Amino acid sequence: MSQLQSECLIIGGGIAGLMIAHQLEKAGQSFLLVDEGLNQSSSKVAAGMFNPISGKRMTVNWKVNELLQSLQETFVEMENKFGKNYLVQAEIVQAFGNTKESNDFSLQLEKESFSQFINASTTASRALNSEFGVFGVKGSGWVKTKEWIADYHAYLLGAGKLIYRKKSWDELKKQGEVWQWHQHSFNHVISCDGFECVNNPYFNWLPFKLCKGEVLHINCAGLDPNLIIKKGVYLVHQEADIYKVGATYEWNFEDSNPTEAGKESLLEKLNKLLTLPYQIISHEAGIRPTTRDRAAILGEHPSHKNLFCFNGLGTKGILQAPFLAQHLATHILQKTPLESKVDIARFNSFYTNSQF
Ligand SMILES: Cc1cc2nc3c(=O)[nH]c(=O)nc-3n(C[C@H](O)[C@H](O)[C@H](O)COP(=O)(O)OP(=O)(O)OC[C@H]3O[C@@H](n4cnc5c(N)ncnc54)[C@H](O)[C@@H]3O)c2cc1C
Repeated sequence: MSQLQSECLIIGGGIAGLMIAHQLEKAGQSFLLVDEGLNQSSSKVAAGMFNPISGKRMTVNWKVNELLQSLQETFVEMENKFGKNYLVQAEIVQAFGNTKESNDFSLQLEKESFSQFINASTTASRALNSEFGVFGVKGSGWVKTKEWIADYHAYLLGAGKLIYRKKSWDELKKQGEVWQWHQHSFNHVISCDGFECVNNPYFNWLPFKLCKGEVLHINCAGLDPNLIIKKGVYLVHQEADIYKVGATYEWNFEDSNPTEAGKESLLEKLNKLLTLPYQIISHEAGIRPTTRDRAAILGEHPSHKNLFCFNGLGTKGILQAPFLAQHLATHILQKTPLESKVDIARFNSFYTNSQF
């Protein structure tokens, strides 16, 4: 059988796999991407929202300005590639849940790193229950992830660079410095398998802490499609009067299917947020590849040369992936050092040679 030689094998065609594919293509490197082709994955159910401010404690994201710049630049490149605009800039109008949240916010406002993203003149939307007041977040918005992934997959399929198949890790063999998969050989393998990393014999020793998330689609007339409204849950515009309501954060779960409990939890919060009538259209779930220290994991396997991990994007896939994909691609191709916060080497003590 004749061998097909490429620079890289990418396993997983979610946000991580596609962003690294984009960087390799920009660098003129050949690659093959293998994806299971499931209808529901974390990347496909995600709201695609990006928000420079994180969590209940309202902290500013690590390297937020670089992440936002890379996100913007990458989606200009996507627009040039596919002739579509996938990135929507939209302010988040966030209502405080109680007085404590409003007090904590006032303390944070004293920091310039935080206040640069706050719009103090934002006023409550009539659709939003906001008895404790609201604030606006700038530099936020969403990416139409499902549409972008579908277009990117179609493009890669057309170019013969994507195969839909569940790759069994037993099929990957090493011959000298080269990786073999069926009749293909590769200099590098990049594992971007999302939550499936826990079943990946090469990387299952990493401290992943998976987090299931559920979302609803609702039909609601009268909302402003140019705003994201948020209070416990967020509403992100999809099309016409359809909005995505998300999300749940479930740390103990049995499978990736939507549950009644997840739906109830979303509806309870939605009913506290929304003053307008709505109808539920659909309900989806996915599993976020979150890590113990909540930072992504990038870099080479401690003992298998040229086998790389790009995972752990957690709750912030779209904000982090463009910057981190560029960072990892440069590391692989030009041997530049990785940022210690995301470097796989921070977990090397978890690895023993008895593992793969
Ligand atoms: C409900 C929900 C809402 C979210 N909302 C947001 C949001 O608003 N903003 C945001 O930034 N992030 C959001 N996230 C998080 C975001 O979705 C993740 O950070 C991101 O999708 C992770 O991307 P990934 O490519 O690492 O993993 P995945 O999306 O899981 O992609 C991995 C891919 O690899 C494939 N694969 C795995 N193993 C194999 C194998 N052996 N062979 C072949 N293919 C394989 C899978 O089928 C899948 O296509 C949300 C997540 C959920 C669940």
